Amino acid sequence: MSKKSYQMVKGKLRQLSMWSEELKAIKNEGRFQRVVGTFKNGKVRKVWFNTCQACQGAFPQDSIELDHITEITTAVSVVSKTEVEVDWERFMTLLWPSKASLQRLCGLCHGEKTQRYTQERVKALKGPGGLL
Ligand SMILES: [Zn+2]
Repeated sequence: MSKKSYQMVKGKLRQLSMWSEELKAIKNEGRFQRVVGTFKNGKVRKVWFNTCQACQGAFPQDSIELDHITEITTAVSVVSKTEVEVDWERFMTLLWPSKASLQRLCGLCHGEKTQRYTQERVKALKGPGGLL
């Protein structure tokens, strides 16, 4: 299929997966509250935290990111500059939130993992027999 159509379908499916109950459950799993101070009225101020599954650090729940353990694009083969071939069965298994497909990471670990993968993929596509 054309790269353009693929991007469109991928975008919509990603969006759908983000609204799923499975995703919320995985995001909230293992979260815990920490006292971070007191309000002016003397009430204890607590914030939800969660653990990064890579560095094991504790981070505010709001800053925890969900990462696809195996990148979704491994289900996509580049055929030419404008065409791709998608293994939709594999694509959905990798995309749809489950304990096997998602992990909670801090922003730094997520950024590093994504960068590493992107560099390797671009290298492979540009290398001998590559398509870019
Ligand atoms: Zn981390």
